[in-house]
Parts: sequence; structure tokens; C-alpha cells
Amino acid sequence: MFRRSIYKTPAQLRAMVEPGLITAAALDAVRPLVRAGVTTAELDAAAETTILARGAESNFQLVRGYRHTTCISVNEQVVHGIPGERVLEPGDIVSVDCGAQYQGWNGDSAVTFVVPDDARPDLVARREELSRVTEGSLWAGVAAMASATHIGQIGGAIQDYIEAQGLSEVSGQTYGILREYVGHGIGRKMHESPSVFNYRTPDAGAEVRPGLVLAIEPMVTAGTETTFVEDDDWTVSTIDGSDGAHWEHSVARHEGGIWVLTAPDGGADGLAPFGVTPVPIP
Ligand code: MG
Ligand code: MG
Repeated sequence: MFRRSIYKTPAQLRAMVEPGLITAAALDAVRPLVRAGVTTAELDAAAETTILARGAESNFQLVRGYRHTTCISVNEQVVHGIPGERVLEPGDIVSVDCGAQYQGWNGDSAVTFVVPDDARPDLVARREELSRVTEGSLWAGVAAMASATHIGQIGGAIQDYIEAQGLSEVSGQTYGILREYVGHGIGRKMHESPSVFNYRTPDAGAEVRPGLVLAIEPMVTAGTETTFVEDDDWTVSTIDGSDGAHWEHSVARHEGGIWVLTAPDGGADGLAPFGVTPVPIP
């Protein structure tokens, strides 16, 4: 059986720059709209408008049975929430996942926001901390891709980062890492081999070398690691009702280093604390 190599050529890596930037632009369009009173459908529409205006299409709409441009997951929902008439409330923690396909190549990225709530500063602080830890673990995983020899080291770096936080400073709870949902290769398809676990596994995993492009996406909760799929057959929620956060970037390893395709700065800001400098794809 023919299996496409998981490693891309330099020309293929270059072709993935534009869909990455379009994906970033779609999430940038959502960011200023996140406030109490907006519906998740309105956020989805902003992402779709941006993707279509750049001559791309939503790769989420290419997933069988899915009709939206984003997944929007609120509070105890961690991933795969369906945008619709839900109105965001003050203090909500909101993860937005989005992807664009452009000239046959894909980008995939997710960010988490907390809706301001002046009346409940403790709630906001707790949720912002969850988002910050999740985003930090993403960058730890991305940074590891710069020097890793095997994919398993990326998951190890993500888990180490989260465990190094120990108990949450704000809530006193430990964090949970979703086990059943993982990152993935990305290229001609949004979801390709190999899987990218967000935790240590006995298997070292595939080799990390030039041409590898991964969507790294830790999904972290302020409690349980156990989730269930809601009656809509999509939304993944925590079994104990604890909050979830989700951050994701598509990242290329090339001859000169790594480049975060879904960050306009290639990941420079996020990688700086880890002493890694991204290198543009030649
Ligand atoms: Mg995604
Ligand atoms: Mg993904």
C-alpha cells in the first residue's frame, strides 16, 4: 500500500507558509470580537470571512459532517464545540480552533480567550492561569521540536512543563492533560500521520528531521483528564465540569531550524523564553 512520506520537501514546506498565515489571520479576526454578548456563530463568521477573502477555504468544512469554520469550546467544553446561538457571558473561557486550506495545503491553530468579568476577578484569574499554562506547554512542545530527535520528546516537554507548574497558584488544583485527543501531522490533509501525544509515552515515536510538519495542540483542564462527547456528537467536555483550554500551532522543521507556520512572527515571541529562535523557511 502506498503511504505518503511524513516528511515534506523544501518546496512543500514553502507551500505551507501561506495557509498558516491565513489561519493566523482568521484567529486574529476573532480576537477583538470576543466579549460578553457575542454569539459563537458570530465568531465563526468572522473567521470564515477572513479565510474566503484570502482565496482559501475552511478545512474544517472538509471534515465529514462538519459545516463550520471553527470549533468553539466554552468552559467545561475542551475541544470540538460547535459554533451557534450560544451567547458568551462574562468570565467564560473560550477556545477557538480554526484551519485554512490554500492551494491544497493546510494550516491548523487554536487559541483560548477569557471574557472579562469585573464582578468575578477570582474566576477570571483562575481561567487565565489555565490558559497561560496551556499556552506555555504548547511553546514548550514547539521549542522541543527544534532539538528533538523523536516526536516523543515533544510530548515529554509538554507534560514536563505542565507538571512543573505543580499545583495551580490560583486554585490549588493540579492540571489534567487530555489523553484521548492528540496533535498530528499536517500537510495536504489537515490530519495526517503521525500522532503527537501531549504526554510521555513508552514509544519514542517517529524521527524528527527536516521536512516534518506537526500540529502541536495541548488540551489541558483545571481538573480531570476524563472527558465525554456531548449529545451533539462533537463537543468534548470534562466529566467533572472543570474548565478546559486548548492552544495549537502548526510547526515546520527544516534544514535551518523550526518555523511556526501559524504565527506571523514564526513563533519568535513564544519561543524566546525557551531560548529558541525560529528560522524562516528558505
Ligand atoms: Mg485545530
Ligand atoms: Mg489540530
